[in-house]
Amino acid sequence: MTTSIDPGDEIKQAITSIKNLNEGQNEFLQAVREVFGSLEAVVEETPTYITQKILERISEPERQIVFRVPWQDDNGNIHVNRGYRVEFNSALGPYKGGLRFHPTVNISIIKFLGFEQIFKNALTGKPIGGGKGGANFNPKGRSNDEIMRFCQSFMTELYRHLGETRDIPAGDIGVGTREIGYLFGQYKRIANKYESGMITGKDPEWGGTLVRNEATGYGLAYFVREMLGESDSDIEGKTFLVSGSGNVATYTIEKIQQLGGEVVACSDSDGFVHDPSGIDLDLVKQIKQVERGRIYEYADRKQGVNYYDDKSIWSLECDVALPCATQNELLKEDAKMLIENGCMVVAEGANMPATTEAIELFQESGVLFGPGKAANAGGVAVSALEMHQNASLHSLTFEETDKQLQNIMKEIHSTCRDTAEEYGTPGNYLNGANIAGFKKVANSMLALGLI
Ligand code: GLU
Repeated sequence: MTTSIDPGDEIKQAITSIKNLNEGQNEFLQAVREVFGSLEAVVEETPTYITQKILERISEPERQIVFRVPWQDDNGNIHVNRGYRVEFNSALGPYKGGLRFHPTVNISIIKFLGFEQIFKNALTGKPIGGGKGGANFNPKGRSNDEIMRFCQSFMTELYRHLGETRDIPAGDIGVGTREIGYLFGQYKRIANKYESGMITGKDPEWGGTLVRNEATGYGLAYFVREMLGESDSDIEGKTFLVSGSGNVATYTIEKIQQLGGEVVACSDSDGFVHDPSGIDLDLVKQIKQVERGRIYEYADRKQGVNYYDDKSIWSLECDVALPCATQNELLKEDAKMLIENGCMVVAEGANMPATTEAIELFQESGVLFGPGKAANAGGVAVSALEMHQNASLHSLTFEETDKQLQNIMKEIHSTCRDTAEEYGTPGNYLNGANIAGFKKVANSMLALGLI
């Protein structure tokens, strides 16, 4: 029997039914549209994806866990937060993805992150499925003890769903080595086993891997190096804007500077600093990592620096823009300014920081655009190396792990470039990443049967 399929129509119909099922989950629907927007030629080539309802199946999480997280602050007041773990897809391996603690967290945010994670993880070439979790908890201004109590309460509920072959969380916004420590400690206590591989992003002193802390930022810099290499240029001497000042931004700046790039701005959710002489990363680390302060303090402590909270960081001139803060932070107007000011390359350190309209503008005007699921995959790739090291009880040196990270980013870049070309859209890394990631997961789902 031959089935006649209009791929564009089928994809539209799938999007409509996913939209009806997930009303109001705007970030999630944005992520679905962004991936499905690349799939026409793929569906045409393999109509089984349609007959087997792969589009509908891949956008429905295998399991969604929502739970209460009660905790007590230092003054004895009781608080209740909502915790989430979305176990999205395990066709390639156990669920893998970070935890985000931020007041904006809701089911739409966790689902968009989990959905992106499926394809990102596929692109790393490692045997890991996709998942994401977190809580609408605001860590800002909370004491160390409060953070510990929150993490313990969160893990007391979640631990039963986790395990080194089941579901392996890690960090994301608001969850770093300190929080991973408290989460791991509580798991260890409840489960009564030292199961290092059940969480990644651990300190190397207690089961972590060197380079994991730096991996997302370093990986982004390596990916950008490959992108620039395509046009026969490199990082040296180029001017960079990096939004954010958390883990991803910090280690992006560090590696870009090591590779000879000039980073002239970074930011936090209140505003950005413009330092034409080049960002002093030690000062950023002192303010953000040691003092857990705000970025305006950078301008107070260094001469010749301006702080702005009334305009966008993307209004500055640059060769390369690296959004490393959060979703939908780079809008159409920002894209316009970047293009007018001669920006050549944009690559996403955060997850989905550029809006769909901004991406369209970049692509229309020939700005090379590296999507997060490819450009920021270095973090989760080194998490997979951490799982490997935990399972084999063998630790690699910093240099060995960094070398592997460089190779993985090179590989992801060439996969995206070659796939984009093969499907008739050379230079379109978004199509390349979406198609390569999707095919790998979809084919594995077909092979595993209707489950
Ligand atoms: N949260 C990171 C990401 O967005 C890392 C996930 C992990 O290491 O599992 O990819």
